[in-house]
Amino acid sequence: MDVVVAGTGIAGLFLADELSRIGYRVLMVSPGLHSSSSYRAQGGVAAPILEEDSVESHLQDTLRAGDGLGDRERIVRMISEGREILLRLVEEGFPFDREDGRLALSMEGGHSRRRILHSGGVQTGRNLVEYFLNRVRGMVRHVRGYVVDVVVDGGRARGVVVWDGEGIRIIYSRAVVVASGGYASLYTSSTNPDTSRGILMWNLYRRGLPLENLEFVQFHPTVFHAPDGSRILISEAIRGDGAILIDGRGERFVNERDTRDRVARAIFRKGKVYLYAGHLDRDFLLEKYRMLVEKLREYGYDLTKDPIPVYPAAHYTIGGVKTGLDGETDIVGLRVIGEAASTRVHGANRLASNSLLEAMVMARRASRALADELPGLDYREVPHFPDPVPIDLPGRGLLDRYAFVERDGLEITRAVENLEDGIVRLILMSALLRKESRGVHYRRDFPERDERFRGYIVWHRGEWSWEPSK
Ligand SMILES: Cc1cc2nc3c(=O)[nH]c(=O)nc-3n(C[C@H](O)[C@H](O)[C@H](O)COP(=O)(O)OP(=O)(O)OC[C@H]3O[C@@H](n4cnc5c(N)ncnc54)[C@H](O)[C@@H]3O)c2cc1C
Repeated sequence: MDVVVAGTGIAGLFLADELSRIGYRVLMVSPGLHSSSSYRAQGGVAAPILEEDSVESHLQDTLRAGDGLGDRERIVRMISEGREILLRLVEEGFPFDREDGRLALSMEGGHSRRRILHSGGVQTGRNLVEYFLNRVRGMVRHVRGYVVDVVVDGGRARGVVVWDGEGIRIIYSRAVVVASGGYASLYTSSTNPDTSRGILMWNLYRRGLPLENLEFVQFHPTVFHAPDGSRILISEAIRGDGAILIDGRGERFVNERDTRDRVARAIFRKGKVYLYAGHLDRDFLLEKYRMLVEKLREYGYDLTKDPIPVYPAAHYTIGGVKTGLDGETDIVGLRVIGEAASTRVHGANRLASNSLLEAMVMARRASRALADELPGLDYREVPHFPDPVPIDLPGRGLLDRYAFVERDGLEITRAVENLEDGIVRLILMSALLRKESRGVHYRRDFPERDERFRGYIVWHRGEWSWEPSK
């Protein structure tokens, strides 16, 4: 095999499509084709499409959301190349929603302009995944299972270790791409599929790759927590359309269009909160939010009439394997792309709808870099003796309590005291080390932003360091 890709979200599929079209043999590994955050993405993809909009304006909004962190140069690249990708998709006939023949653009919190392209109302992710699955059908092989480790030999990636629930096997390849998503499902309260657990991320760390920004976890403010444990995200687009948030006495308590972190904190503090859309046009709701209306109905709620109980849930993880926009790592032939990577474009808080954009841009850049690199990468089946598969993750369950919307230094110190090494420990330690509040990271004991912390916490081989922001 030429390239093995771990993950069939938008990052993995986009890259597999690009590489297979130029003749490389690509094999994808994932537990299922429809189990990804990408498939669940609702709101859309942001890019400055309108003439009156600009890369500069999108850059400023991204930096403002990032709260003092964020790599300006990379953000500019992400936005301008992302725009090219979206225009290509439009040209190819991808079904972005239209109004009077023109692309319909919506507005989301933190954006100063309408620039979110969407598809099928709130089914953007699902339509993107289906679109790319169709494109790669017959060109790319898929194996069901989890990549639990990468085979590394003398600083060079040689393949992956796959666990299919029963046994493990090694698949050798000339290059490996990790596109396995983030770690939001380490939280019990999460909008992600159960697969976003960071197991592979932890093993890459053990193989010597640095992890960074782990304390920055974005919480979606308005999630319906169903009695059966399902989490139903109520897109912020509906607040953009006029839905309001009310407390137990029916009173509004927050600006509904404020940034996600502020809305999430306001809800967290109130505890019992409802989203209400009963005053909006019923036909409009039924058309634009049909899927959501149907899902809530299964639990006895009518979105067009009833106040819906909502609470925050872990949604997007800004941290990950430290890479550039090409997904490059210190291991030759190994790239990490999409939400699994940390490229610093989101700073301390991701601007809504910038992550599908980042995933596609990274996939395109990584595939181009690999196309240049592959002729120099040989195939070799080196002996490898896999470690036992980690079934349980030490400390899972602590995060909902100690690294949720609000954190407290003393509480975290107690939580990590006897905690075994693992990804959860690194997340809690990062939250402890950042003694300030910035972006999505809020410390009750340090509620202000502190310029001494204007940088990134990077973990490498058991040690942490600060890298100042440029
Ligand atoms: C409910 C929801 C709504 C969202 N809405 C938006 C939105 O409107 N706009 C936006 O920009 N972003 C949105 N996001 C965020 C966005 O969807 C993700 O950041 C983006 O899709 C990440 O893409 P990815 O390909 O990197 O990862 P994912 O889409 O998460 O894909 C990861 C893939 O890896 C697989 N996998 C996991 N572990 C392993 C392993 N060990 N081995 C092999 N495979 C593995 C998974 O099964 C999956 O196939 C939303 C997220 C959620 C959860």
